[in-house]
Amino acid sequence: MLKPKQMKAIQLRKLRKIVEYAYRNVPLFKKRFDEAGIKPSSIRTLDDVAKVPFTVKTDLRDNYPLGLLAVPQDRLYALHASSGTTGKPIVVAYTRGDLECWSRLMGRSFDVAGVRKGDIVQNMYGYGLFTGGLGFHYGARAVGATVIPTSTGNTKRQLMLMKDLRTTVAACTPSYMVYLCEASRAEGYMPRTDFALRIGLFGAEPWSEEARKRIEEVFGLRAHDCFGMSELYGPGVAIECDQRNGLHVWSDEFLVETINPDTGEVLEPGKEGELVFTMLSREAMPLLRYRTRDLSRVFEEECACGRYHPRIRRIKGRSDDMLIVGGVNVFPSQVEHVLMNIPGVGDQYQIILSHTDLDRLAVKVETTSDRLNDPKFLKEIQGDLLAVLGINADVALVELGTLPRSEVGKARRVIDLRSKE
Ligand code: ADP
Ligand code: ZN
Repeated sequence: MLKPKQMKAIQLRKLRKIVEYAYRNVPLFKKRFDEAGIKPSSIRTLDDVAKVPFTVKTDLRDNYPLGLLAVPQDRLYALHASSGTTGKPIVVAYTRGDLECWSRLMGRSFDVAGVRKGDIVQNMYGYGLFTGGLGFHYGARAVGATVIPTSTGNTKRQLMLMKDLRTTVAACTPSYMVYLCEASRAEGYMPRTDFALRIGLFGAEPWSEEARKRIEEVFGLRAHDCFGMSELYGPGVAIECDQRNGLHVWSDEFLVETINPDTGEVLEPGKEGELVFTMLSREAMPLLRYRTRDLSRVFEEECACGRYHPRIRRIKGRSDDMLIVGGVNVFPSQVEHVLMNIPGVGDQYQIILSHTDLDRLAVKVETTSDRLNDPKFLKEIQGDLLAVLGINADVALVELGTLPRSEVGKARRVIDLRSKE
């Protein structure tokens, strides 16, 4: 395994090359460098990356669809688009080399999670423009596992195939796996005996340690958190090893930094901030210092698994997911963390924001029927939410099965009724 010094040498060599390449081939980067008064040759050490101007999401939107290409269009092997959770889609392009690199990184991620030849991977990420479907597909192929490309939805068929084909690896969004916990019981399966699942590859949205525990208990598998985004090839940027104490970033391809999102100042490792990535060998669409808006922290200590690849903490959410309720910052993932820790609380919840004189945060919580009319239980939930969020939430207990479930794509659990001015 690469030691930090060797890794840093590789990163520096690749960084200098990609900066030169981006400057020569993408007019936006040349313009930004010229405005900042720097040249590619100004980058002599890894720390010099801080001189490079940031690239932001709007740069990709403003150059829609292919204004940031560094290669002639006939060199492209594939195009994808982000799922557009937060606006107009972003188109991303891949050369043959990019697809090979992405597959290799996905293969490494599968390997780290323990997926092997002989495993049967049911890939319930959406196939299509979304990078999740094909990304996980390539990963399964890279390690020589068998892939079943079921894509999203059609839950009854998913469960039938999971049982009949003896699926060993489930790949999907964590919210869908949480949904499968209840759906499998409703369909009369005994998840631990009817299914042969041993590994779960869950990502593409924030989830909590408590959701992990629930999934693992129901299916008897080991769940790994996977992180990525369309702009950075797709999934496969970082994954948890068997220690499951942070996600290893494939730092020979992604130089990771954290910055203060308000000032852009680079933070010391360990401090929470916005993740910024520089892709170290992307051909079709190089990205330098890309601001992800995802909040996390980076730590560089060697992991007990023996890898020195830096780790990022489980992503708390994007800065755009952050809700500001009467001046207090709340992440939906914090609400999930509180709820899933309380026995008797179901897997589904909904956050509703409204404003009359003041901002109000309401949380609908599914509960087992014996608890539905229990005022002490309601108080307990309210108290736990107050302790973590620092604000009062109006909690309503509702029957199991009454809140909307997401069977396709990422979960939508927040309803904001406040008028946006
Ligand atoms: P979109 O930006 O349209 O949702 P993507 O599918 O590219 O399209 O989404 C990438 C985003 O998904 C990341 O920036 C991050 O916010 C979120 N994400 C991906 N993986 C994880 C994960 N393991 N934990 C938390 N959030 C994640
Ligand atoms: Zn590790």
